[in-house]
Amino acid sequence: MNQVAHGLPAFAARSYEFAEYAPARNWIGGAWVDPSTGAWAPVENPRHGRAMSKVAMSGAADVDAAVEAAAAAQREWRAWPVRERAQVMFRLKALMERDREELAWLISHENGKVYAEALAEVDKGIECAEFGCSLENLAAGEQLYVSRGVNCRESYEPLGVVAGVTPFNFPVMVPLWMLPQALVAGNAFILKASEVVPLGALKLAVLLREAGLPDGVFNLVHGGADVVNALADHPGIRALAFVGSTKVAKLVYARGAAQGKAVLCLGGAKNHLIVVPDADVQLTAANVAASFTGCAGQRCMAASVLVAVGEVDHIVRAVAGEAAKLRLGHEMGPVISEAAEARIRGYIDGAEAAGANILLDGRPQRGEGGGYWVGPTILDGVAPSMKAACDEIFGPVISVIRVRTLDEALAIENANPYGNAACIYTTSGAVAEYVVERVDAGMVGVNVGVPVPREPFGFGGWNDSRFGHGNITGWDGFLFWTRPRKVTTKWALQKDTTWMG
Ligand code: NAD
Repeated sequence: MNQVAHGLPAFAARSYEFAEYAPARNWIGGAWVDPSTGAWAPVENPRHGRAMSKVAMSGAADVDAAVEAAAAAQREWRAWPVRERAQVMFRLKALMERDREELAWLISHENGKVYAEALAEVDKGIECAEFGCSLENLAAGEQLYVSRGVNCRESYEPLGVVAGVTPFNFPVMVPLWMLPQALVAGNAFILKASEVVPLGALKLAVLLREAGLPDGVFNLVHGGADVVNALADHPGIRALAFVGSTKVAKLVYARGAAQGKAVLCLGGAKNHLIVVPDADVQLTAANVAASFTGCAGQRCMAASVLVAVGEVDHIVRAVAGEAAKLRLGHEMGPVISEAAEARIRGYIDGAEAAGANILLDGRPQRGEGGGYWVGPTILDGVAPSMKAACDEIFGPVISVIRVRTLDEALAIENANPYGNAACIYTTSGAVAEYVVERVDAGMVGVNVGVPVPREPFGFGGWNDSRFGHGNITGWDGFLFWTRPRKVTTKWALQKDTTWMG
């Protein structure tokens, strides 16, 4: 491996202007290293459609090197008291607050989301680090006097070397769904960030080091499927968490589980929002519009289908009115790539050809200065069987399906194979409870279009939106990255023993 002395990238640009960044090298054992493969891929700024950096496309040998460094570092790290390990999270939180704006611009440049959305992502990441701070008080085990002379105690032990794989849509927040719990638990971590947005993770590596994390406890191996497969196969990695599309989540789950690892894979989504006639018009309109257009629709919690129950035309029109106000490049950013733009446009064309009415058409809209753009789009009169109603589009497009009853709406929601989020808009508590109890989704919103459970609640969907057990954040996350040790003790008391002889 070619070790590079000056691997630290510059993180300076603070505007939407095009800015170049230093290459995203691997971070292994506290050193910036080039990939053993010699292969690199461009990292594009989607607003400008131009390469802003390049990323290492590593191979299995780089994963081997990272596991070796991580295993060596973990032997020391696990001996730190949990309170001292948690101090790294306190310092990380403070450093993220210090560099909040710089982090947000970096996210905006590599992912395309507008600055306000990027700031919101950083704040959510800080909240995740904050949960890591609380673990010093939560991570105590249990002890019980279980029978005469016998005590049993249970403690949470680290697994050893663990790994995470993350998607393009939250370059900083999703890694922080994993890192605080995994690190404070005493593990060493290898992150394979999305090769589309590798720079946010790089900045986290820089901040973790500044926060006092010993070298080798956090490592980055950049690349694509080759790295993910090597992580899943490596016998030295005890647990693997993945966040990304359902297709890949299934593959990674099967591959990692076949090696006997603990595996938790969060997948894609198709989130249905049910709107009934008594819903508050303004709240619903603003909320639905924000849900399907936020981050240009590239959120696993984004609204994708609006199930309109009964006479709610006035609300659908109000949603269109709100979404039409958004200016591309200002309140809404580009989509991630040329391929994503083509895919999203294809779904709109296909729905139109299949007979949907385009209530708001984002196709003619383009941002300034190149890049990949689609404006907010509302497809009305969509049949449940159309592709736009079934597939995860992952763009700023919502399909309106008209039904007469709440039960019809629930049947449509529950027939979709995903189960990430669902939402009901109503002013009736009884209607809300009826839906909450029957809807087949792990995260349900009542008048909340993006029902992300805030810490300390755990994030995780159902069905094809998650493979494995438990939530990825909150206390479940801590349990995932640990294993319980039970110690049963019995002492033969010798009352005459004295050490003072
Ligand atoms: P993706 O599945 O294409 O990529 C995710 C990760 O997997 C990346 O690091 C990528 O390098 C790797 N990868 C890609 N193809 C692979 C393969 N064949 N084998 C092994 N690894 C592979 O997802 P994406 O496009 O980066 O992100 C968007 C998807 O992520 C959407 O489906 C979205 O719903 C989902 N997502 C889900 C959640 C959740 O919590 N459920 C959160 C964020 C995003």
